[in-house]
Amino acid sequence: MNYPLTFKQYSDALKEDRLMGLKCKVCGSITVPPKMACRNCASFEIEPMAMKGTGKIRTYTSVFVPSEGRETECPYIIAMVELDEGPWIMGNLKGVTPASAGLDVIGKSVKMGHEVFPGDKYSAGEGARPVFTIV
Ligand SMILES: [Zn+2]
Repeated sequence: MNYPLTFKQYSDALKEDRLMGLKCKVCGSITVPPKMACRNCASFEIEPMAMKGTGKIRTYTSVFVPSEGRETECPYIIAMVELDEGPWIMGNLKGVTPASAGLDVIGKSVKMGHEVFPGDKYSAGEGARPVFTIV
């Protein structure tokens, strides 16, 4: 099986604030984060593409009971962002606390950065993850 974009390549790009997706040669859909096949038509004919890393918050949730390894950053917000290219991805929202966040957060434009997660017993080690800030 050929992986046109491995999770390590995706993570390495995130460390440089570059968001990589996979564009389907069959249906044109974009898959991000990387998967083996197109999220829309399951084709393996997908190729890496650079994404802008910008979009709009479509929904969010506040986390008051953190998962293991994330205790120091609690409470925090996880946002679902609709990227300008179409797909939705999840990421931490910085600069807004759960206490100050209201429904007005939904629809705000955001820009992606990243954080490096040291890894925990549930992951395969260190990796970068998307972090969003309102622009
Ligand atoms: Zn497709």
